[in-house]
Amino acid sequence: MLESELIKLFRVPPGKKIRLKDFDPGWAGTKEMQELGKDAVKQRAKEYLKENLAELAEAQELLWADDRYAVLVILQAMDAAGKDGTIKHVMSGVNPQGCQVFSFKQPSHEELDHNFLWRHMKRLPERGRIGIFNRSYYEDVLIVKVHPEILDGQKLPPSKRDKSFWRERYEDINAFERHLVRNGTVIVKFFLNVSKKEQKQRFLERLDEPEKHWKFSAGDVAEREHWNNYMEAYEDALNATSTEWAPWHVVPADHKWVTRAVVAGILTRAIDAIGLRHPAISKEQQKSLAEARKKLLNED
Ligand code: ATP
Ligand code: MG
Repeated sequence: MLESELIKLFRVPPGKKIRLKDFDPGWAGTKEMQELGKDAVKQRAKEYLKENLAELAEAQELLWADDRYAVLVILQAMDAAGKDGTIKHVMSGVNPQGCQVFSFKQPSHEELDHNFLWRHMKRLPERGRIGIFNRSYYEDVLIVKVHPEILDGQKLPPSKRDKSFWRERYEDINAFERHLVRNGTVIVKFFLNVSKKEQKQRFLERLDEPEKHWKFSAGDVAEREHWNNYMEAYEDALNATSTEWAPWHVVPADHKWVTRAVVAGILTRAIDAIGLRHPAISKEQQKSLAEARKKLLNED
């Protein structure tokens, strides 16, 4: 299967309605890959990740040298789906100067005094850089939709919190993202799709292994009780905000090696698609480089 066809498996097609239950969190290769045996697929995925990390490092250098485009990576997921590990692995080969990560938690008082996009606008990557949003404004149509009482703290003008309220938020997000794209930000969005069963396993590991205790939070177990509501909120958000200019990808997240390879592949292809080349040098610049060279060589 061609790489581009593989990537299509994970894309939420703009304008179409997907069902999350049609995306397998435990996906570990196509049928034809699985015939090779699990270990071989895993090995190939690791090599693929490595190849992509090298390409990503090159792509980032071009992005930096060109200085017109920025890349915004949005990562959304249920707890323990592997956002942190994905960031660590996928960005491991990238020059830290050209990359920035922001994690969005519950908003502060100051942030609640502004519209829900404000705090994210302030953290957008500048031209030449890759910015990662570890959670994002999508929380405002996810956790906030699952717990609408959070809206009481958002100091909004009165209106019905009905379907049209959420539709307007999706519209605002789409318009915001289109604005960013038109101004040179490439947006790549990932939903790391972990199963409820695998999440339980990972929580148990956090409880059972002392060196993982710090990762455990009792609140995460409470949130798990709202699993179905979250899946509904995710499904609605993915369908409403996967656009031609900023498509969503549903990445299988029960196997970490799959998640990392898929994210690295999609991100690298998205940057490649900009079609950057090393900036051309004018005749005059060439002349001045030659002069500088001559001067250096003629030093005592
Ligand atoms: P980890 O648990 O791996 O450290 P995390 O992203 O889950 O990472 P936490 O500090 O555990 O970080 O959780 C942040 C919480 O903030 C999440 O439950 C998220 O849903 C919540 N949050 C983010 N944005 C908003 C928002 N706009 N309104 C309300 N809650 C939000
Ligand atoms: Mg958490």
